[in-house]
Amino acid sequence: MEDRVSHALLEWYGRNARVFPWRSPPETAPPDPYRVWLSEVMLQQTTTAHAAPYFERFTARWPTVEALAAAPEEAIMAEWAGLGYYSRARNVVACARAVAERGGFPGTEDELRTLPGLGAYTAAAVAAIAFGRRAVVVDANVERVVARLFAIDEPLPGARKAIRAATDAITPPSRAGDFAQAMMDLGATVCTPRDPKCLLCPVTRDCRALADGRQADLPVKAPKKARPTRAGTAFWIERDDQVWLVTRPAKGMLGGMRALPDDGWSARRAGSGDAPLPGAWRAGGVVRHTFTHFDLELGLAIYAGNAWADLEGGEWWPVAELDSAGLPTLFAKVARLATAGVR
Ligand code: SF4
Repeated sequence: MEDRVSHALLEWYGRNARVFPWRSPPETAPPDPYRVWLSEVMLQQTTTAHAAPYFERFTARWPTVEALAAAPEEAIMAEWAGLGYYSRARNVVACARAVAERGGFPGTEDELRTLPGLGAYTAAAVAAIAFGRRAVVVDANVERVVARLFAIDEPLPGARKAIRAATDAITPPSRAGDFAQAMMDLGATVCTPRDPKCLLCPVTRDCRALADGRQADLPVKAPKKARPTRAGTAFWIERDDQVWLVTRPAKGMLGGMRALPDDGWSARRAGSGDAPLPGAWRAGGVVRHTFTHFDLELGLAIYAGNAWADLEGGEWWPVAELDSAGLPTLFAKVARLATAGVR
């Protein structure tokens, strides 16, 4: 069964591979490891449609890992703005510098794991896709396909061990990169979360979920925990058509990004409500934003005083040029609220 599944999938991939700027067509030379690595980092928690323009901009501006390694961190963080999960951008900087230092990407999964920010998944994907090494590559799409193919009943995330073992069993000794991408594509286009298109699937013959009519019930997911809502405040301080921006601490949420000052809200607790200046403030509305583990209701407070001389640790930025400040999506939303005529 295992050989039949990999053979059928590779043949299907030859006809149905999706086209992306970071990919090489099936059965051609593997792509540059820099492009594979960068795309895999960008695609974590992000759709291909959202990541693709970022990938194009990054690789046009920094065509090699050495060019990226030599770029100022602020420029990379600003280019990442809007892509979310900013710890990834900091890892991109650290990893690019480590790779440039050692003279290129290593070619094995174990060595790739030693690079900053490369987890098991990314190391396996780069080893398979860029270096043709046999590696077991399991992302959320592959997880779903394999749970159905083998009718794995155990709920996720506990089922991950069994899913990995089953993926290992069907991973062929050669064309590891094409196989990994075939599985991803099957999960994204045919074996979809809802209404899988089994009539178009190349592995129907071996699919146990289909045989049992249970494809809609798999994979089983553990019930989700309730997502807390946190409250916080962002502060808009404007003077002479310029707004006061700060750079967030390197560690923590949206670390290292330029932002409006706020009151220290986090995933664990609400903000203190403490303003960066004493005196007159007025409410300017609320922005709601969803993070992975919590929802945030961020109130906007607009400064109505003139004690600007007391500000420290930030910079004045022209309001008309806020688009070039590289604000993360949350603060870009707050800035839009502040400039939408509330003042
Ligand atoms: Fe998924 Fe259906 Fe194919 Fe099974 S037959 S792998 S459920 S698309």
